[in-house]
Amino acid sequence: MNQPSGNEHGAHLTIDLEALCENWLRLARRVPKAECGAVVKANAYGCGIEEVVPALVWAGCRSFFVAHLSEARRVRKVAPSATIYVLNGLLPGSAPAYHAIAARPVLGSPEEIAEWALEGRGAECALHVDTGMNRLGLGHGDVERMIDGAVRERLDIRLVMTHFSAAEVPDDPANLRQVMRFGQVAEMFPEAGKSLLNSSGHFLDIAPPYDLTRPGYALYGGNPVPGQPNPMLPVVRLTAKILQTRVVADGEGVGYNSRWHARGARKLATICLGYADGYPRNASYTDVLPGGHAMVGGVLCPFAGTVSMDLIILDVSDVPAADCARGADVVLIGDGIDLEAAAAGAKTVGYELLTSLGRRYQRSYAGR
Ligand SMILES: *Cc1c(COP(=O)(O)O)cnc(C)c1O
Repeated sequence: MNQPSGNEHGAHLTIDLEALCENWLRLARRVPKAECGAVVKANAYGCGIEEVVPALVWAGCRSFFVAHLSEARRVRKVAPSATIYVLNGLLPGSAPAYHAIAARPVLGSPEEIAEWALEGRGAECALHVDTGMNRLGLGHGDVERMIDGAVRERLDIRLVMTHFSAAEVPDDPANLRQVMRFGQVAEMFPEAGKSLLNSSGHFLDIAPPYDLTRPGYALYGGNPVPGQPNPMLPVVRLTAKILQTRVVADGEGVGYNSRWHARGARKLATICLGYADGYPRNASYTDVLPGGHAMVGGVLCPFAGTVSMDLIILDVSDVPAADCARGADVVLIGDGIDLEAAAAGAKTVGYELLTSLGRRYQRSYAGR
């Protein structure tokens, strides 16, 4: 396929696979007695399953977690000998598809267990135990019933897992409650591996690493310890090109519905990026509500007005003319703007920003 030139796309996404592998190694080193897996759901948090998974396999990762069977199929194609868990479990009638690619469903309800026991004929699976999030997984009574039930003999349970609801907040009392509850459940399944930690869990003192960990966000450069310096390397860099600049007079309205007004004469730059690229419209910057920023020639510049489908307007009044000429690159994620800062400008979390990264960017992968 012909590689389009830089100017055919308005925006460029660079994904640093070397940094990604280094992040995985850093997390693995925090749990030396356990196996460190990788969560690659949602197209590897927007970074690309087909590129991310082989890089992690190369780094030494052997177990992958996805949300959907369709994602498991993509992982299987590029990682023929990996262990693949599907976190969303078993949808009715999908057992044969699991067998076809040797993926393990993470069973989270008595109904799923019954279907897998019938259709799965002893095939490998994982159990998701709910320890307080009330989202997915077996509740209190379900686990006890399953322990004594005949169905257990017909399952090959390889992994028992639960998921933290607030691991990024170390002093949230929910963490200890979940650790204690999981400890009780773990004892009921001596033959199975156990898995507890997500990214932030690797940094929680009270959480045992067990056998297998499930980091996602931190692999892609997200900060697993919010409020503290990020122990991970940045992986994602997003830049966009300036299309044109203009000077507006004091009081002029800017963008759809004039939701931002110039205070004094301002210089504006319009860039090639919008919500159709996955950049959140909630990053709009209005007269009453602050929003997103971009780095232009080393100067942090606020957005001006609403984020459009394909365009964002920046206030570049403080940027020297040479740095904001037509065609110049501005940085949306990278340099002084980390994932958390970019997400804060859009009133969301870095997770959502990453997983929304659009298909319209020119993508390049560094460090392979
Ligand atoms: C998404 C997910 C993870 C990864 O969480 P991060 O915070 O991204 O590390 C781990 N376990 C389960 C069950 C998940 O759904």
